[in-house]
Amino acid sequence: MKTEIVIIGSGIGGLCCGAILAKYGYDVVICESHNLPGGCAHSFTYQGFKFEAGPSLYSGLSYSPSPNPLRQVLDMIGEEIQWKNYNSWGCWLPEGYFEVAVGEESFYHLLLDLRGKEAANEWRLLQKVMKPLSDAATKIPIKAFRYDMGVVLTLLPYLPSLLPYVFFANKLTASFGAIMDEVVSDEFIRNWLNLLCFMLSGLPAHGTSAAEMAFMFADWYRPNVTLDYPVGGSEAIVNALVRGVKKFGGKLLLSCHVKEVLVENNKAIGVKLANGEIISASKAVVSNASIWDTASLIPVLPASIRQKWLSTPANGSFMHLHLGIEAKDIPPDLPCHHLVVNHWQITAPQNVVAVSIPTLLDSSLAPPSSHSIHAYTPATEPYQLWENLTPNTPEYEEMKEKRALVMWQALERFIPDIRERCKVRLIGTPLTHSRYLRRYRGTYGPAWDASKGFFPPATTPIRNFYLCGDSTFPGIGVPAVAASGMITANTIASVWQQLSV
Ligand SMILES: Cc1cc2nc3c(=O)[nH]c(=O)nc-3n(C[C@H](O)[C@H](O)[C@H](O)COP(=O)(O)OP(=O)(O)OC[C@H]3O[C@@H](n4cnc5c(N)ncnc54)[C@H](O)[C@@H]3O)c2cc1C
Repeated sequence: MKTEIVIIGSGIGGLCCGAILAKYGYDVVICESHNLPGGCAHSFTYQGFKFEAGPSLYSGLSYSPSPNPLRQVLDMIGEEIQWKNYNSWGCWLPEGYFEVAVGEESFYHLLLDLRGKEAANEWRLLQKVMKPLSDAATKIPIKAFRYDMGVVLTLLPYLPSLLPYVFFANKLTASFGAIMDEVVSDEFIRNWLNLLCFMLSGLPAHGTSAAEMAFMFADWYRPNVTLDYPVGGSEAIVNALVRGVKKFGGKLLLSCHVKEVLVENNKAIGVKLANGEIISASKAVVSNASIWDTASLIPVLPASIRQKWLSTPANGSFMHLHLGIEAKDIPPDLPCHHLVVNHWQITAPQNVVAVSIPTLLDSSLAPPSSHSIHAYTPATEPYQLWENLTPNTPEYEEMKEKRALVMWQALERFIPDIRERCKVRLIGTPLTHSRYLRRYRGTYGPAWDASKGFFPPATTPIRNFYLCGDSTFPGIGVPAVAASGMITANTIASVWQQLSV
């Protein structure tokens, strides 16, 4: 098969990149190893229950124009999704239970009740300090970025509105921890901020970039904000992007594992599939696979680059619990998302549990009178505990039960009889995560410490070979990988194609 551009992987990053390149008029083929598209964001159906493998918490998607890069991609390719709006989630913190809402004032009032005036004022001050950073971070649409000198032209229209913010550039490029240290002394607020950072990047405040937090402050702590859940579940986002790829002539090949990137004279010329077939690419090959998985696809990678890519620090993996339960008597106003924090050593294994019950917002995701639930330990399950175990052996099954206990206990806080309600029960381990999400050691992604620099760019030392997704700038999370897909597409396209949209 011959094409202009091959993309390896149909994660949100790869799909955004492919949809935009197809819109620019390129011949695009996306090769996805799994039989379902979406990568971390794919959904699967089991005994009538629709389950999400990964993300379910979204914001900035149900309105336009929005600073959320995914919304910008959907707008560019003309795709619509229906959203359910809500504004709070349940937090089970060491201090007690709080229903925490997004919005300009809500956390201030929570602090006023819990910690008093001084702490609440510290929060106000932090909001004030973050305001210009948030403005700066959201002033330039991501679609204006690219990784070459053409950026001078594509950024030009935005320069006048950016000028007032040049003095904040050094703050934006530093870690959020530095800002937190300057402004916040209250222990509860510091713990809270570390938790938010951890849920974003897998690292606490000192490892998380101020720019990433500036986006979050811009989005979550503004007036009239809502959280957005896609009708049909996360699959609706993936489907919208796939529609975008296809309507501009792009192809998505499922169960199509790329075994090797073909390189000639230091230039990527196509890919070899696991079935031996070759797809040649005259313009570019893009890898949406993680940086470690990508390294294994290129036999001719210079040793220094291979070493650099393979030594990228990795976040931990996940335990998952997917449950289909009887819904009778579960209050319909129970928050859809819960975060259970057993103690404030946030990054410790078996501590934080995230829960999503999307059927509280969209009942079509489960059979009548049922809920589907996804609970997981975010990026804290050590892969090394699992790497020598074999699925379906008694040792593996025993370990699964043991390591899943913390998630059952978290769920029992608000559904005490959850075990008796179960109709479907699936426990996932780091081995499951690495198998179905095709991710090296089941990782959440690179653990690049923001105090030491940015995530790497999409360009590589091999000509015509690019990266996109959460191993590249701006990092982990659905908005970030949508941004990376957009930047990679623009870097491959000409300045004029980019300016045309
Ligand atoms: C449990 C969990 C919960 C999360 N919750 C949220 C959330 O609520 N909100 C949020 O914003 N973010 C969340 N995230 C993070 C977010 O989902 C990810 O950062 C993002 O989806 C990663 O997208 P990606 O495009 O970089 O790569 P991936 O999703 O990893 O996609 C890469 C794709 O490449 C394919 N692939 C790999 N190798 C090959 C090969 N050789 N040949 C062919 N195909 C290949 C894989 O099968 C995969 O489909 C969560 C992540 C997880 C795991």
